[in-house]
Amino acid sequence: MYCRNCGKELTGTPEICLNCGARPLAGRSFCYACGAKTNELAEICIKCGVRLTEAGARARTTAAAATAGVSTKSRLVVTLLCALPAWFFGIAGIHRFYLGKIGSGIAMLLTLGGLGIWTIIDFIYAVSGNMRDKENKLIKDWQV
Ligand SMILES: [Zn+2]
Ligand SMILES: [Zn+2]
Repeated sequence: MYCRNCGKELTGTPEICLNCGARPLAGRSFCYACGAKTNELAEICIKCGVRLTEAGARARTTAAAATAGVSTKSRLVVTLLCALPAWFFGIAGIHRFYLGKIGSGIAMLLTLGGLGIWTIIDFIYAVSGNMRDKENKLIKDWQV
């Protein structure tokens, strides 16, 4: 996010901007989402469209912080669980149970992994580190 007072890019959602000393969301001069200059009375950033009210900014930045971060699940396990049972036994969706995504796991089992297509898509996601767990965290770590 960006400090709404001085416009400096900040990592995470700090209470105080280390560049200017103000509360980053209390300022009115810059957009917290894109860093563009904003009019003091503007409620919405003209450049990126986010709501500039402090409550709106707070909800958005904490939601973004929650989705950031890396899962503790193993990328190796998820990749193997996606590929091996499907290739050898024709059973799809096991990796989704591992991820805690029970609903879509059952759906995958019943549809044979979308007749294989869903399995291939999930496999590409898993192996490239773009699969997400139930908490929406990316599974990037190969370590088991
Ligand atoms: Zn600042
Ligand atoms: Zn903006």
